[in-house]
Amino acid sequence: MDKFKDLPDSDGFFGDYGGKFVPETLMYALQELEDTYSKLKDNNEFFANVDKDLKQFVGRPSPLYFAKRLTKYHGGPKIWLKREDLNHTGAHKINNTVGQILLAKAMGKKRIIAETGAGQHGVATAAVAARLGLECHIYMGANDIQRQSLNVYRIKLLGATVHAVKSGAAILKDALNEALRDWVTNIEDTYYIIGSVTGPHPYPMIVRDFNAVVGRELKEQSIELFNKFPDAIIACVGGGSNAMGVFYPFLEEDVKLVGVEAAGSGIKTGKHAAPLNDGKPGVLHGAKSYLMQNDEGQVIDTQSISAGLDYPGVGPEHSHLKDSRRATYIAVDDVEVLKAFHNVTRLEGIMPALESAHAFAALEHLVKDFSKNANLVVNVSGRGDKDINIVATMGGISLD
Ligand SMILES: *Cc1c(COP(=O)(O)O)cnc(C)c1O
Repeated sequence: MDKFKDLPDSDGFFGDYGGKFVPETLMYALQELEDTYSKLKDNNEFFANVDKDLKQFVGRPSPLYFAKRLTKYHGGPKIWLKREDLNHTGAHKINNTVGQILLAKAMGKKRIIAETGAGQHGVATAAVAARLGLECHIYMGANDIQRQSLNVYRIKLLGATVHAVKSGAAILKDALNEALRDWVTNIEDTYYIIGSVTGPHPYPMIVRDFNAVVGRELKEQSIELFNKFPDAIIACVGGGSNAMGVFYPFLEEDVKLVGVEAAGSGIKTGKHAAPLNDGKPGVLHGAKSYLMQNDEGQVIDTQSISAGLDYPGVGPEHSHLKDSRRATYIAVDDVEVLKAFHNVTRLEGIMPALESAHAFAALEHLVKDFSKNANLVVNVSGRGDKDINIVATMGGISLD
């Protein structure tokens, strides 16, 4: 069997998952992207430019921080936070957009499109497009536009056009459909920056590779701060890019990898966004992966307090890591997430995004399996400023 780190194979498969299930018109564009990427992958100058932007524009490396009071609260293993919330624009998404915009430039594309859920990928894409003076269009579900209005305004300030998508449930999966439709229509001059390790090959690989800087930094920082690799790494999973980025450099190491999905109102209610916990393999947005679907194979509506995790699919590499048991996937519900959000904010002075709060909520289930000497790392995928209206209406402290 292939080593985990050597995947995907040349057809874009991670075991049974991935591939390119797209119309003929897109095949050409995907091949063009794959050819460009495989050429630039070994080009030192290209990666020197990526590294320079990660350092000077994004603010990398992000710190590894010891959460002393949170550790005491849980009364078990030491808890460390990988601080992706401190990145420019407030989440891990910028690690990927900084890289992909340089691919777009290398390919001579003049027009950038992207989909977004919570708006973080929209902001991260609009920011890098602004910097290069490229035209930028962001597709966002009309429902998400309402619940993430702060990010919508940020995208507009950055000079991008926001397209409200009203079809379906008017959330992330619908925005992805519209972005793919735009791409098919404008394939000549348009580069599509996908925001997670989802979509057809080569996207899951490219987005993972650009996010893997997080795991590489963590390897160095854990050795420096506690002299060994972490015992476990915990990350929330929507499409799965922040998790894949921090997991990937550890795939061949003796480190427990835990992904945390959104259980929404509870797995048993069916109202959730946890395809790895309660889904079946199927094809969505160009790739085969675990998917939330009914008995007829129709994609079913998802529910989560966090717009960034509110997606019925998941990146194909996670499906492979699940089936092969290299990683474990659990789910936590909205109530647990809100509790974790408040806890971390009060105990550590750090306000996590509601997406990241899923990883914190998982600690409640996980700490009992580890000794006091163990080191657990929570990937803090983003900061919570964008979510304060939701928190306030869901029983937080009143905003008045
Ligand atoms: C977009 C987003 C996520 C979910 O995306 P992944 O691809 O699963 O990482 C998680 N956290 C934050 C802060 C996000 O903005």
